[in-house]
Amino acid sequence: MKNKDAGSSTDPSLSKISSAESLLVAAGRDRRPGAPLNQPPVPASNFNLGTERAYSRDDGTPTWEALEEIVGLLEGGHTVAFSSGMAGVAAVFDQLRVGAQVVIPDDCYQGVVGLAELGSQKGIWSLRRLALDDTDGWVRACADADLIWLESPSNPLLTVADVRTICSAARKPSALLAVDNTFATSLNQRPLELGADVSFQSATKFIGGHSDLLAGVVTVRRDDLRAALRRSRELNGATPGALESFLAVRGARTMALRLERAQANAMILAERLHAHPRVALVRYPGLSSHPTHSVAREQLKGFGTIISFDVRGEAAAADKVCSRVRLIHHATSLGAVESTIERRAGIPGQEHLPPSLLRLSVGIENVEELWVDLAAALRDE
Ligand SMILES: *Cc1c(COP(=O)(O)O)cnc(C)c1O
Repeated sequence: MKNKDAGSSTDPSLSKISSAESLLVAAGRDRRPGAPLNQPPVPASNFNLGTERAYSRDDGTPTWEALEEIVGLLEGGHTVAFSSGMAGVAAVFDQLRVGAQVVIPDDCYQGVVGLAELGSQKGIWSLRRLALDDTDGWVRACADADLIWLESPSNPLLTVADVRTICSAARKPSALLAVDNTFATSLNQRPLELGADVSFQSATKFIGGHSDLLAGVVTVRRDDLRAALRRSRELNGATPGALESFLAVRGARTMALRLERAQANAMILAERLHAHPRVALVRYPGLSSHPTHSVAREQLKGFGTIISFDVRGEAAAADKVCSRVRLIHHATSLGAVESTIERRAGIPGQEHLPPSLLRLSVGIENVEELWVDLAAALRDE
């Protein structure tokens, strides 16, 4: 089950399978007679000596490798799994040398911004931020940047970057272009195929899909880069848990179905919110009114399950919506079976966002019941 080659498996039964839906179900399994259908959680620090596996922090475990095989096949590369999304992000930044130039988007996951700012405050690298829709600006920045970090669609403004054009710009041979693919998932976007060096996902979100684990996955094509990421994981101890990896694999099995349903729900809710008198603005890449809708149509297979919308009135009006929902959870995070809603500007460090912006992660519930819940929460009094 060890994924030695980019986008391939040593399991011969997978050689003819190329659809994401089937790979999600079929990859990461031990098909030998007598073996359980599912790779069990292996809680192990060390192994009897005599094979290539001696200590799990250095050599991995079969449970992590099941997750790495599934994501690697989906994304078309080698995947390294980490203890959380941020541990994976940190391993990518760990590749930088002192004096490196880093570019991140204006709208970007807050943890990535925090990590990038910390390194710049310490004088390890210099940091620039660019508007995600400024494709020309990114193309110019590629000429001398050492790490180009894209996030598309972005959190929480859902801007879609022209990843293909930015990836085709000339960059230094040692530069890394990374795409945070958490909102799109490997089902809607395959960054390595668009020309990125690194594709990252927080497996906490759609891969896990049930709000019950933290994990991260980083996928690359180059063998040296994969080795460097594994070395970073080993030296920083950013290893995924046995139970978490098991749950992430369990989640991956139904990911295509979950995404399909949640995405269909999201489109319906986005259209209805757009027409609602108490909503001032809806951001959803699937709406033709969305500023980067045309790039989204061209580059993404689906528009995702996250909607952000501004309630008319100030923060208090949006807080009222959050306190009134009954089916939808007033909670952070995204990508799970259950719908969650949150006022983002209320979070420390997010005060720059519109005060009444709500980020809604649409789940797999009945869409009419979701709408009844939202419409009741948006009522006037
Ligand atoms: C959640 C998230 C992360 C960080 O992942 P964790 O698993 O929480 O560490 C990074 N990027 C995006 C877009 C996210 O949504």
